[in-house]
Formats: sequence, C-alpha cells, structure tokens
Amino acid sequence: MKSPSEKVDPFDGVQGTPIRLENKGPLRFNPEPSTRAHAEGQPPIFGQGGRRVDLKNLSLSELNQFLESFGKERYRSVQILRWLYQKGAQSFDEMTNLSKRFRQELSQVSFISTLHPLRVEQAKDGTKKFLLQLEDGNRIESVLIPDKARLTLCLSTQVGCAFGCLFCLTGKTGWRRDLTVSEILNQILAVRKILPDKTSITNIVLMGMGEPLANYENTLKAIALMVCTDAFKFSSRRITLSTVGLLPELERLSKEKISFRLAISLNASEEETRSYLMPINRRYPLNKILAFCKIFPLRRKTRITFEYVMVEGMNDSSQDAKKLIKILRGIPSKINLIPLNEAPGIPLKRPSEEKVKRFQEILMEGGLTAIVRTSKGGEISAACGQLQAKELLQ
Ligand code: SF4
Repeated sequence: MKSPSEKVDPFDGVQGTPIRLENKGPLRFNPEPSTRAHAEGQPPIFGQGGRRVDLKNLSLSELNQFLESFGKERYRSVQILRWLYQKGAQSFDEMTNLSKRFRQELSQVSFISTLHPLRVEQAKDGTKKFLLQLEDGNRIESVLIPDKARLTLCLSTQVGCAFGCLFCLTGKTGWRRDLTVSEILNQILAVRKILPDKTSITNIVLMGMGEPLANYENTLKAIALMVCTDAFKFSSRRITLSTVGLLPELERLSKEKISFRLAISLNASEEETRSYLMPINRRYPLNKILAFCKIFPLRRKTRITFEYVMVEGMNDSSQDAKKLIKILRGIPSKINLIPLNEAPGIPLKRPSEEKVKRFQEILMEGGLTAIVRTSKGGEISAACGQLQAKELLQ
C-alpha cells in the first residue's frame, strides 16, 4: 500500500464535500398569539402558518411553556412525556389520564409523530437493520446490535453526511439534512415497538448516519429526553456520542450540564494519514483535537473512547501503534480497533487478523486499553461505515 502522500487525494480541491458547521437556533414557537387566542376562546395557534407542533420536538422546558401558553398546568408535561416515551402512545386518545377536552385541545395544536420501518433485515449474528422513511421521503437507517447482555441501538442524526470519511459509505452520499429531535427519538420508539416482551434496549450509540455534533441542538435535545426520568430513563453511562472531532462543538459540549460517553473517531496517529482518511482533519487537526481531549472535563471514572478503523497499509503498522501510545499519553482513554468493513466503492482494504492482533498487543504493552471490535451485521450492510448508501445513491 502506498503512503497517503503518494496517493491521489480524492478530496483535493473539493474542500469539498460541503461542510456545514453552523448551529441552528433552538426550536421556536410563539406562545403569545395562542395565549391571546385562548383568552378569546379561539383554538390556539402555534408555529408559522398555524402549523401544529410535533410534541416530540419539544424539550421538557419547551413542553412546559407550550402547555402554559394555552393555560394548562406544568405538571401535565410529565404525564405527556410518560405517554410519549414510556408507553409509546401514538395518539392522544391513548392518554387516558388526561381529560377528553384537554386531549381535544392538544390535538388542535399539536401532533404525535411516528416512524415505521419500511424494511427490517436480520443478519445471522442477530443484528437487525431498520430502514425508516421520513415524512419528506428521505430514508435513514438504525441498527440494533445484540451482544451478550447488551442490546445496543445505533441511531442516525442526519440524512447522509457532509464529512466524506474515506472508509464510510454514508459519507459518499453527501449531506441532505439534519434530523429533527422527533426523528432521532422516533428511531428508538420504532425499534422498541417490535421487540419481544421483556426485551429492552440497554445502550444507545449515536454512530449511525451523520455527524451528531453537526446537528448539535437537536442531538443534545434528544439526548436530554433519553436520560430524562420521565421520558426514556436511559442512564447517561449507556449513551455514547461519536464525533469526528468538531472542535467548536466539542468546546460547547464541555460547558453543557448534560453527560454521556464521548467517542472520537481517530483512525490515524499522524496528520497526513488522518487528513487522507478524514478530510475534516484539515480543518480540525489531530494535534488540536488531542490537546482538547487533555482538558475535556470528563466525569469521574469515565474515559474517552477513541475509534480506530484499521486499514491495510495505511494505519496498521507497529510504528503506527507506537505513535498512538505516544500521542494518547495523558488522556484517560480506551481504544476500539475496528478492522475496516470493506464495501464496493470504498478504495481501502481490511488488514489481516494477525496484523490487527499485533497492533492491539503493542497498544496493550504500552499501557493502553485496546479492544478489537468485531463488526456485526456485515452481510446486511449494517456494520460500521456501511449505512444507507444503497438507498440514498439510487
Ligand atoms: S464516518 Fe461518520 S462523519 Fe465520517 S462520513 Fe461516515 S457518517 Fe459521516
């Protein structure tokens, strides 16, 4: 395998792949007109053009404001959250501890969105891939991965992705749009609905289609509802967000009160290889990301997970492993080694098992925790880096 500098860089001159990093403002609705309307005995109107509000797009405090804006008590929001996220209600009629009149009023100003799988594929190892159709016709995928006592759901946060990582099929599709809060959460509800009784999703990973921190507001609002005790009630230790390392968003994240596990897609021990595999490294280079990781305010007893997709002849040598030990010194970390999932259209190769094993041994001898992640769901294109390309590229 040639070194990155000898290769034709597919991203040269295409700074590229449109990278869109600006943050959107929070979801807005204007309670004032509806309060006025309520006082005048008119049905309240929210949002532009009187559009009804998707309740699953509202955070707890927004739901409080929303209810107050048409004269309802705040405690009602807890009842509504439980119906939406714990009981999976799909209509207001199911909310039997709310009066009929209140349910009618709610249905005039809001609605409950749902997602239904268009297709579910199952691999021999039990991994299931869900193809979900969104309101506007776009499609996303979520993957359910059983592993001993764990049942992990991998969620998408965008339709497509702008970051163009070379080892990832989603990156080849480009970015179409961000998912709304409800579209992120509805993936959990759609999958949970078809699980057998007494089976629960134990872990959530935001590692599906898209870069979660490029959809910052919606992703964080969705996580807040995942950990909210009146909504999904996931432990924050069982939620992992994986990012390519968007520094402004990581800085912003370091000031947030909300907590979850952080994973950074590293994939190289030096700049040139990382820029080749991940064009975003030209904007946020490895050395700056690692410097930031050293000061990132981690919760007690937590570590940053570094994901390392192993590519033959690119980042899998003993020297690479030794460099990795050096650059990760001083960062509480764990490394997930992911041998590349080869796929048509990805111009890279998976290293041999021996090479992966040797790489792991060197890291461990150097005092790092390194785990080889055997990818699941490869035969249904559900493994890491294989999501959604087929449907979006059609
Ligand atoms: S690995 Fe993640 S950030 Fe990179 S292209 Fe794929 S979905 Fe986007």
